[in-house]
Amino acid sequence: MTDEIRTGGCLCGAVRYEVRGAPMKSGLCHCGDCRKVTGSSFLAYADWPSDRFSFTGEIATYEGRSFCPKCGSRLFAYDETGGEIYLGTLDDAPNGIRPLVEGWCIRREHWLPVIAGMPMARQDP
Ligand SMILES: [Zn+2]
Ligand SMILES: [Zn+2]
Repeated sequence: MTDEIRTGGCLCGAVRYEVRGAPMKSGLCHCGDCRKVTGSSFLAYADWPSDRFSFTGEIATYEGRSFCPKCGSRLFAYDETGGEIYLGTLDDAPNGIRPLVEGWCIRREHWLPVIAGMPMARQDP
């Protein structure tokens, strides 16, 4: 069996990435930092180990979160252990990756319906 390869990148196409196989974890984060960095009400993310994540192109990084310096798209956070992808930057929409936990639900918008079966942590899951 071969691992599924998913591709993604920024809005202008200068930064491209690839992840292989199933993510190690996935979730939604409603924390204040994720709201600010995405400009949205929450972040959808999934993580892959470093040997299953690669990217090309020039990035800029602020406090561990990387983005395209040309178009400003927020892409991922990565270090030697792996990459945490912002799921909205995958090429496929919908991408089929189901978040498995929600974090920082004390910051969760009240208009957002509860997702059946999803564990909801008040702060870090
Ligand atoms: Zn770009
Ligand atoms: Zn967060």
